[in-house]
Amino acid sequence: MARWTLLLAACALVASCEADRPAWQYGFAVMGTEVRVIIAGAETRDPTPHFAAVEARLAQIGRDFYAWADGELAELNTALAEGRSFQASADMAGLLAQAQNLSRLSGGAFDPGIGALVELWGFHQPRPGVAGTPPADDEIAVLLEGCIGIARISLRSSQVASDCRGPLIDLGGIAKGFAVDEAMSLLRARGIANAMIDAGGDLRAMGRNGRRAWRVGIQDPRGDGVLGSIALASGEAAFTSGDYARYFTHEGTRYAHVIDPATGYPVTHTAGVTVLGGRGIAADAASTALMVAGPEQWRSMAERLGTRAVLRVDAEGSVDMTRIFGGRLEPVPATVD
Ligand code: AMP
Ligand code: MG
Repeated sequence: MARWTLLLAACALVASCEADRPAWQYGFAVMGTEVRVIIAGAETRDPTPHFAAVEARLAQIGRDFYAWADGELAELNTALAEGRSFQASADMAGLLAQAQNLSRLSGGAFDPGIGALVELWGFHQPRPGVAGTPPADDEIAVLLEGCIGIARISLRSSQVASDCRGPLIDLGGIAKGFAVDEAMSLLRARGIANAMIDAGGDLRAMGRNGRRAWRVGIQDPRGDGVLGSIALASGEAAFTSGDYARYFTHEGTRYAHVIDPATGYPVTHTAGVTVLGGRGIAADAASTALMVAGPEQWRSMAERLGTRAVLRVDAEGSVDMTRIFGGRLEPVPATVD
């Protein structure tokens, strides 16, 4: 099972910080990720229907928002590839509009219209790089000159069209953010005010865990240790992109699943980026964009994206962070009280 993030240990810390009734926890696999739903102990006597509702909604998102599943996004991609327009659901149209906007703000570093490149590199498969070899330079060049990029689609009254045959839309860089936001809204609508959704280390907190804030640990992507922990405010999301979850190694080079849309090659300068933000969608897109940004650009790009709490680890394992992230990072609590 691929872990997509460097934010781990969430539940270990969540559990250790529980000073009241133990939180309810439920886990299931969806979107290639181990998801955990945690509801503060005092919220309910029977969490089962809440867990079931979240699981059903996330399974639906897994079908409809993954390009290589058999739901709405697959249908949309087929229509665009055949030169037809597509009448999208309100959810799909909304997410595409946000994705287009975030892509523009990132100067194209985040681009969910590069599914053809993701496929060429083999990162659409659950276990990427089966062949274990990178594609040829000219195959990449052909794709870069072809119908590629989210800017090639237009959206009018939820009607999606393109000025070329394609592009292949891959919402994998933002779908977990959408899923986590949806799960939170669903729980809120069901009367739950204190919960945490952890999608393989990409997570969002709501309310508190008993008397304390929900707290997550930040794992060092190049070591065994934990860099620190963060107490999340209510509604806050913590998302991570990294090079250590989906990758393959060929002749000593690591090729990981975040691709620089400008070059068509996987990012090699960055091991991981963690972003704190008010919404899962924005934090998810930003963490992917900042993975691509590189050592010179990541701070200015973070500002353009409106993300102020960012931690970046480069390929050699050096850690850098914004002042605001540094102010939030605390030592991991050593004992359970
Ligand atoms: P994340 O873990 O959120 O950074 O998402 C990575 C996934 O997003 C990859 O597995 C691809 O499906 C897709 N992806 C890769 N590169 C990009 C990019 N530059 N912009 C948007 N999505 C990307
Ligand atoms: Mg992302």
